[in-house]
Amino acid sequence: MTGTSTVTSHFINGAWTDSGGPTFPVRNPLDDELVADAAAGSAADAEAAVTAAAAAFPSWAAMAPGTRQALFLRAADIVERRQEELVQLMAVEGGASRAFSTFQIRLSAAMLRQAASWGYLPVGDVIRSDTPGRTATVTRKPLGVVAGFTPWNGAFYLAWRTFLLPMAFGNTTVIKPSELAPISSGLIHAEILQEAGFPAGTFNVVTNAPGDAAAIAEVFFTSPAVRCINFTGSDKTARILGERAGRALKRMVLELGGFNPAIILEDADVEESIKAVTFGAFLHQGQVCMNTRKVYVARSLHDEFVSGLAERVRALKTGDPTDPAVIIGPLINDHAVEQIDARVTDAVDRGATLVTGGKVEGRVYQPTILTHVPADAICTTGADETFGPLLVVEAFDDAETALRDAQDTPYGLSASIMTRDRVRGLAMAERFDSGIVHVNAPTMASEAALPVGGVKDSGWGRSGYYSIEDFTELRLTTMSSE
Ligand code: ADP
Repeated sequence: MTGTSTVTSHFINGAWTDSGGPTFPVRNPLDDELVADAAAGSAADAEAAVTAAAAAFPSWAAMAPGTRQALFLRAADIVERRQEELVQLMAVEGGASRAFSTFQIRLSAAMLRQAASWGYLPVGDVIRSDTPGRTATVTRKPLGVVAGFTPWNGAFYLAWRTFLLPMAFGNTTVIKPSELAPISSGLIHAEILQEAGFPAGTFNVVTNAPGDAAAIAEVFFTSPAVRCINFTGSDKTARILGERAGRALKRMVLELGGFNPAIILEDADVEESIKAVTFGAFLHQGQVCMNTRKVYVARSLHDEFVSGLAERVRALKTGDPTDPAVIIGPLINDHAVEQIDARVTDAVDRGATLVTGGKVEGRVYQPTILTHVPADAICTTGADETFGPLLVVEAFDDAETALRDAQDTPYGLSASIMTRDRVRGLAMAERFDSGIVHVNAPTMASEAALPVGGVKDSGWGRSGYYSIEDFTELRLTTMSSE
C-alpha cells in the first residue's frame, strides 16, 4: 500500500481507503524521481477520518493499560524490524542520511516503549475540602480527538511524536502529513500500527495535495469532536492556524522553529565543542528545528575552533543519502536551496568571511561556515531561521554579552553551553530564556524521555511524559456526605 509501491491511499477507520480521486506526485529531492502518487484528500476524507476517530475514542480512552501497553510494545518491535526499509524510505522521500534516519528510528522505538508504561502511572489527586464530609478528586481525562499536522523534516520521528503522545493518554488522532513526505510523516506509521493491531479509528491519516491543506484544516477547526490541534511546522503557518484556532476555541500544541545558539566559553574542550557543533549544526543538512544556527566562541579559542571545525565539516561526505557514507544529502526543494544561497550571498556581500562551503550541486548544498558576519546580515540576526547547512561563528570577549546576544531572537527552543566548569555552565543555563539548554552537549541532543519544546516564538507544549499536560484535562469531582 505504501513504501515502495507507487500509489498511496488514506488510512481511515482501520482501512486503506482509495477514494479513486486525484493524486499528487511525491518526488525524491535528490533527482526528482517519482517516489509515490499520493491521494489528494478532500474535506470529505477529513470528515470521515474525524468521524472514525470520534467513534473510536470512548473504547480507546477506557482500554485497560496493559492492553494498550502491548500494542505500543508491538509497534516498537515492528519499527526496529523494518529499520532497513525505513532508512531507504527516509532517504528517497526526504533526503535523510543513514545517520539521521537511524537516529529517528532509535528515538521512535524508545518513545513507543516509554509511552507503553504511562497507562499505569497515577492519573489524579485527592484534595482536602474545608467543608466537613466533602471529598474532592481531580482526575486527568483525555481530550477526545487530537488532529495533528506532521512536518517533512524529521518526518518519521516527529510524526510519532505528533500522534503517539496524545494516544498514550487515551486520545484518538487524525494526522495530516506534510505534502512533501506523506509516507514517512504518516502513512508508514499507519502500516505499522495496523500490523501491531491498533483498533480501527484510533489513528487515521488523510493526505493532501500542495495548496489543499487549509481545506483539511478547516474540517478540524469546525468539528466539535476535535479538541486539540497539534502542529509541528513553521511559526508563519502556526500564526495562521492560531488565529483560526482562536475563533474555534481549540487548544493548540505547537512545536515551531528555533535559532539554537551555542556558547563556547574560554575553558571549553575545543575538540568536544567542534564535535558538538558539527552534529548540532549539520545533522540533516540543517533542516531540523533544533539545529545550531550560530556559535558564540570565546575569542581566545576562536581561530583554533574555526580551523578545527572547518576541517571536520569539509570531511562530511555530500551527495546521495542512500550511500551510507553520505552525511549531507539534498535540501528538500528548490525554495530551500534559494533561501540558503540568498543568505550566504547577502552575508558575503556585506563583508562576511566564507570559511568553507557556499557551493551547491543540484539540491545538495555544501555545509557552510561564515565568520566576521556584519550584524545586519539576515543569517546572523536571529530573526528567522535559515533552514539549511549554514552556521555563523562569532567571537566574543565577554560571556555576559554573548549570553545576552544569544537570546536576542524571537525563538527560544534549544541552546548549548560548552565549558569545563559545570557550575558556571548551569548558572548560565538558568539565565537562558529557552525551552531547552544543554551544558556540554549539542543543541540537537534529544532523547525520547526528555521534554522537548520551546518558549517565545518556538511554540507551546512539551514532548515526553510532560505532554500529559497538553493532551489531558483535569476533571474535578466532589462528593459530600449529604
Ligand atoms: P514547513 O515549511 O516546515 O513545511 P509549514 O509550516 O509550511 O512547514 O507546513 C507545515 C504543515 O502545515 C504542512 O502539513 C502544511 O500542509 C500545513 N499548512 C501550511 N499552510 C497551511 C494553511 N494555510 N492552513 C492549514 N495548514 C497549512
